[in-house]
Amino acid sequence: AIETKNLHVYYGKNHVITGVDLQIPEKGVFALMGPSGCGKSTMLRTFNRLIELNDEARVEGEVLLFGENIYGKDVDPMDVRKRVGMVFQYPNPFPHLTIYDNVAIGPKLNRMVSSKEELDKRVEWALRKAALWDEVKDRLNDYPSNLSGGQMQRLVIARALAMKPEVLLMDEPTANIDPVGTVKIEELLFELKNDYTIVLVTHSPAQAARVSDYVAFLYLGKLIEVGPTKKVFENPEHELTEKYVTGAL
Ligand code: ATP
Ligand code: MG
Repeated sequence: AIETKNLHVYYGKNHVITGVDLQIPEKGVFALMGPSGCGKSTMLRTFNRLIELNDEARVEGEVLLFGENIYGKDVDPMDVRKRVGMVFQYPNPFPHLTIYDNVAIGPKLNRMVSSKEELDKRVEWALRKAALWDEVKDRLNDYPSNLSGGQMQRLVIARALAMKPEVLLMDEPTANIDPVGTVKIEELLFELKNDYTIVLVTHSPAQAARVSDYVAFLYLGKLIEVGPTKKVFENPEHELTEKYVTGAL
């Protein structure tokens, strides 16, 4: 689904991704794991062009989305972001929009539906997909401020799904969620991965082991090891990977 070729990212003179070649297959959870500051978020943000080419940041190499370089000259970053949804570490529903409108806004603004009925259907579908419908169906016109952190994060996931993205990026989606909410989101990832390509950033090897099918280990901006999760955890090729997965790094 996504492939990087000799990917480099610089913040000014700071070279934070140093030549990464990665292939992310279609469907399933692909985890990017590694210690704080190794470049996980930076790399994830190149996958929907949230790292733009400007004075502060420079991207070299290629990021291919189903074969097309999203950093190509003729590519509109807004088109990329419609195809590649993003969920962040802090649940960020729009506070001034109702629960319904938080999910409806994407399809509405992008004219993806042609009637109110269709929009209602899309909202219910996305909330069901995000395992939130039963909890909010009687309060769709409330604002999201009274939801729990875990519910807010599932609302943000529903907002992303309502756009019918081809890939879903998640940057530490459970880092600020309590243990019960975390379990719910991990269970949700298990459901969604049958239909979606999910790229999950986590600093927790335990979480990567629980939910991912493939895992890449990044260290100081370098790809150290990548492979099927079971293989990487049970039989790592690199000493650094072994240290990391056993908690010694
Ligand atoms: P964490 O687990 O703490 O979230 P991370 O693996 O996601 O870390 P990044 O946020 O990608 O790491 O950061 C990689 C490196 O780039 C770090 O050294 C960080 O300080 C630096 N960095 C990140 N964003 C910027 C920025 N906007 N400007 C300058 N340097 C940055
Ligand atoms: Mg990060």
